[in-house]
Amino acid sequence: MQFIDLKAQQARIAADVEARIQAVLEHGRYILGPEVTALEARLADDVGVRHCIGVASGTDALLVALMALDVGPGDEVITTPFTFVATAEVIALLGASPKFVDIDPVTYNIDPAQVAAAIGPKTRAIMPVSLYGQCADMDAINAVADRHRLPVIEDAAQSYGASYRGRRSCGLSTIGCTSFFPSKPLGAYGDGGACFTDDDALAARMRQVMNHGQDQRYSHPRLGLNARLDTLQAAVLLAKLAIFPDEVERRAAVGNRYTELLHARGARSVAAAKDGLLTPYIAPDRTSVFAQYTLQADHRDAVIAKLKAQDIPTAVHYPIPLNRQGAYAHYCCPDCTPNADRAAARVLSLPMHPYLSAADAERVADALMGG
Ligand SMILES: *Cc1c(COP(=O)(O)O)cnc(C)c1O
Repeated sequence: MQFIDLKAQQARIAADVEARIQAVLEHGRYILGPEVTALEARLADDVGVRHCIGVASGTDALLVALMALDVGPGDEVITTPFTFVATAEVIALLGASPKFVDIDPVTYNIDPAQVAAAIGPKTRAIMPVSLYGQCADMDAINAVADRHRLPVIEDAAQSYGASYRGRRSCGLSTIGCTSFFPSKPLGAYGDGGACFTDDDALAARMRQVMNHGQDQRYSHPRLGLNARLDTLQAAVLLAKLAIFPDEVERRAAVGNRYTELLHARGARSVAAAKDGLLTPYIAPDRTSVFAQYTLQADHRDAVIAKLKAQDIPTAVHYPIPLNRQGAYAHYCCPDCTPNADRAAARVLSLPMHPYLSAADAERVADALMGG
C-alpha cells in the first residue's frame, strides 16, 4: 500500500496531459504562456474571486502575499505553530516575526480567541492555516481582523477545493494562497502555487511581485521575485481540473469510510474524547479535501510500528511545532502553545488518496484496531 498513489490518477489523464504538454512544446511560450492565463481564469472562477495569480510554489504564494502587503522588519504576523515550516518561514525571511498562538485541539486550526488575545501594536497580518484540508474558522478570524483593520492570508496549501459555509477555500479572506506540490489535493507534476484575492490593487501588486516587481518590461516600481508559475505545470493542472471535482468527492468518501470503519471498531471522534484512538472531526459548516487523514493515538510509535509490520505506511504531520524548531524558537515562549504540543506528540496520518480502495481502507482499520 502506498501513502499517496499518484499513478492511478496519472493513468486517467495521461492522454490529455500529453496533448497539453505537446501544445506547449509547439508554441514554445514556456514562461507566462497562455496555459498560465487560462488556468488563472479557471481557478478564479472555481474559487469565486476576481483574481488568481499563478506562482512558482505554495511557499512563494505566501511570500508574494506578504510582500504585496508590505510586511517587513518590526512587523508581527500571527500564525499557528502546528503547520508545515513554510508558513512561518516566509514571515521570518522578510524580517518580520511570526507570533505563534495555539490551536483548537479538535480541528487543529488556529483558535480565533487566541488570535484576538495576541493582537498588539506590531501586528500587521493574520495567517491561519487550513490544516489537513479543512478550513480554519475564517469568519471568526475575519471578524477579529476587521476590528483591527488587519489583512488575513489563508494558507490554503492543503485545502484547495474545500468549502466553508458554502464558500470556497482561498476565497475566504483578503488573500488565499495555495500549493500545487504534487502530493497536495490539486497537485502538479512539479512545484506550483497560486494567490487569490478580490482586491484589484492587491492583485496588481502580487502580479508585479511574482515577476521581479515589474509593471512593464525593465520598469520595477517594487521589490520582487522570480516566482512565476511554469507554463508546463499550468498545462498539467488544466488537465487535472477535469477530474478534480470527482477526486474531491472520492477523497471525502475515503475519509468518511475510514471514520466509519474505525468507529465501528471502537475508535472515537477527537470531538468526543481526549484519549485513545481519535478520528478527525470535520465541522458541520465545512467540507474537507482530506489532504491528510490524521488520527491521534496514545502510543503513537507503537501504532506506527504495528502498521509498518503490515506494510501500511504512515506519516506524522507534524512532529515538532515550529516554536520548538531551532530557527523559530526565539519568536515564542516554548510552552505557550500546549494544544499544539499535545497534537504534535499524538498525531499520525493514514494512507490517503482518491483511489484508495474500500478493501485497503478496511485493511488499515483492521490493522489499527486489531491486537
Ligand atoms: C505544502 C505547504 C506549504 C508550501 O507549499 P510548497 O508548494 O511546497 O512550497 C505551505 N504551507 C502548508 C500548510 C503546506 O502544507
